[in-house]
Amino acid sequence: MTQELTRNQALVLGQLEKADAPMSAYAILDELRDDGLRAPLQIYRALDKLLDMGLAHRLESLNAFVACAHPHCHSSGLIAFAICEKCGQVSEFSDDVVRDRLAQWADREGFVTSRTTMEIRGACKACAAQAA
Ligand SMILES: [Zn+2]
Ligand SMILES: [Zn+2]
Repeated sequence: MTQELTRNQALVLGQLEKADAPMSAYAILDELRDDGLRAPLQIYRALDKLLDMGLAHRLESLNAFVACAHPHCHSSGLIAFAICEKCGQVSEFSDDVVRDRLAQWADREGFVTSRTTMEIRGACKACAAQAA
């Protein structure tokens, strides 16, 4: 990463990296009050930038944020998440075959894609094993 983070961006990203589950903007704010962040707008501004830079992602269905699991390989344009509904664990992955399929569809339809996010919900391996 060549881009310099502001202090607020670095604090927000650090918080997301520490978390084991996605965090809402308000949960991030709660954690960062001691660091002098007081206003939700400060969090949202920092998050916007981090999303732009591909360092963090928004989970649409949870309205929560995660640090990118691999910030250096986001040329692919497809971001996929598997969300465990039991323990809240989120795994980020990417899949070239799925990406190509979606790109073909978009080409055919003349649809101009700005962003593709997939979310799979269910139980992670550990939780699925517990239930069995
Ligand atoms: Zn990512
Ligand atoms: Zn789980």
